[in-house]
Amino acid sequence: MNQYQNILVAIDFSDYGMEVALKAKQLVEQFNAQLSVIHVLDNIPMPDTPYGMVIPLDTTDLTNELLEIEKDKFKQICDQLNIDAARRRLVWGEPQHEITQLASDENIDLIVVGSHGRHGLAVLMGSTAKGVLYHAECDVLAVHLQD
Ligand code: AMP
Repeated sequence: MNQYQNILVAIDFSDYGMEVALKAKQLVEQFNAQLSVIHVLDNIPMPDTPYGMVIPLDTTDLTNELLEIEKDKFKQICDQLNIDAARRRLVWGEPQHEITQLASDENIDLIVVGSHGRHGLAVLMGSTAKGVLYHAECDVLAVHLQD
């Protein structure tokens, strides 16, 4: 098997995110590699409240506020995983494109994704995982997640 040196884990903020990240962390230790993390903001996240999703009237404030929430979540996960500040990527865009683009730009040799995530189990493999597998120029590991 290749000796991976630069591993990229793609995390969504679903319940499975940490499971995928921990698998990547194991591989990093096994190969003595570097770990980078990416989360792609692909929509305006809505906060959960006891009343359900809340949509404030001022959308500029809403976007900024929600962005801060997403930044916070990302920071917490990265801190928990002990990721170097320089290896954290929070970007806007289309997940499969941003993930594979970053992998090419940064000489990543293994991308780790979950077999599914926010888009559920409608098909066996999530759409992002499939897209990454199709477009990546390096190896891709899809962590099998139980429903
Ligand atoms: P999905 O296609 O939503 O079922 O997600 C499959 C896997 O793709 C997830 O377990 C993550 O590893 C990755 N993924 C999905 N959406 C994102 C995102 N917005 N940012 C980063 N990774 C993502």
